[in-house]
Amino acid sequence: MPMLDVAIVGGGPVGAALAAWGAGAGLEIAVFEARSAPSGDPRTLALSHGSRERLEEVLAWPEAGATPITSIHISQRGGPGRTLLTAEEQSLPALGYTVSYGALEAALAERLAKMSVAVHYGESCEGIALEADAAILRFASAREARARLLVLADGGTNAARIPGIAFRVKDYGQHAVVGALRSDRAHGGRAYERFTPSGPLALLPVQDRYALVWTAAPREAERLLALGEADFLAQLQEAFGDRAGRFISVGARASFPLRLRTVNVPVALRTAIVGNAAQALHPIAGQGLNLGLRDAAALGALLRSTPREALGGSAMLAAYREARRRDASRGVAFTDFLVSAFADGRLVPTWGRGLALTALDLFAPARRLLAERMIHGSVK
Ligand SMILES: Cc1cc2nc3c(=O)[nH]c(=O)nc-3n(C[C@H](O)[C@H](O)[C@H](O)COP(=O)(O)OP(=O)(O)OC[C@H]3O[C@@H](n4cnc5c(N)ncnc54)[C@H](O)[C@@H]3O)c2cc1C
Repeated sequence: MPMLDVAIVGGGPVGAALAAWGAGAGLEIAVFEARSAPSGDPRTLALSHGSRERLEEVLAWPEAGATPITSIHISQRGGPGRTLLTAEEQSLPALGYTVSYGALEAALAERLAKMSVAVHYGESCEGIALEADAAILRFASAREARARLLVLADGGTNAARIPGIAFRVKDYGQHAVVGALRSDRAHGGRAYERFTPSGPLALLPVQDRYALVWTAAPREAERLLALGEADFLAQLQEAFGDRAGRFISVGARASFPLRLRTVNVPVALRTAIVGNAAQALHPIAGQGLNLGLRDAAALGALLRSTPREALGGSAMLAAYREARRRDASRGVAFTDFLVSAFADGRLVPTWGRGLALTALDLFAPARRLLAERMIHGSVK
């Protein structure tokens, strides 16, 4: 079995981006993806301006499929206060972008093909053995691979197999109801985040429509899914108000449970853990994938700067852990704080949220700080 330099388990956006960032240094990198082909998942992702810059570095920005978010309107239902973050105020072309998972996946796959990085589809990793000098992977196909460095970018499937790695899970007791929404008014690049007593409700501009993310208690989410289209739109309009116009249609609706899941430590013998495998967040502030891409960029930089013999060694893994410590913990804490402060009335009363939103609206440096945090995390 030949020795790879880096074996990446999981060819989602974070694993594929890591392969792109690490390629070009003459390393033997291979990606192993359980799916038999790219997913083409239509799910909407929110990417920050910082993520765009990182993806542009490796020519993998899906320009044609991206919708710029030029302003974010934040408000709460049943209370005072609102604020508006604008790209203009940050002197940027956009605060962020929406892209479909499938478009990002396709841009990265095209780039990896051009860079001759091997992507093995249909290889589901089912066993991991860690030795002092290599990680050995076993796949459902009965194939095996051996690498100096194993990277888990599999969304969390394999981390529990690694000695010393454990997940911390916080269930928010909420589900997100998602669907494609049309209104009678053009969105003009504006995203909305509205805090309601049942949970946050977000509208993200996507091409000529919105992606809706409506959080609610599991039973309420079930009820919302079961409603006919007209009733669903009427209830959404009541919860959201008319600031985005009249809602006229909603596509297929789906829901998924919301929780925070983090690993106790993102490294182990010969192993680094990145993206959703390391931290899966509530979608409230669209931070999850951006944080994952920053994991991948940091590890990619180390792949380029570490001598081959030292790849996957304890010094390199300690450097990766240190590089991500502050940004990852702050990203998790920031998202968790927003969920707790804005979704749980016991923690911060309505007037407190109103005061915070009003203060943000009046105080440009605070808005800049918030925008900076959402765009770059804690790495700048
Ligand atoms: C409905 C929804 C909406 C979301 N919206 C947003 C948003 O607006 N903004 C945002 O930032 N984030 C959002 N997220 C989260 C976002 O999708 C994740 O942050 C992102 O997909 C993480 O990328 P990843 O590459 O780490 O993991 P994933 O995208 O989960 O990719 C993991 C890959 O690993 C593969 N894999 C799994 N197990 C194995 C195995 N055993 N062997 C080999 N391969 C394996 C999988 O097939 C998959 O391709 C959303 C998530 C959901 C579910």
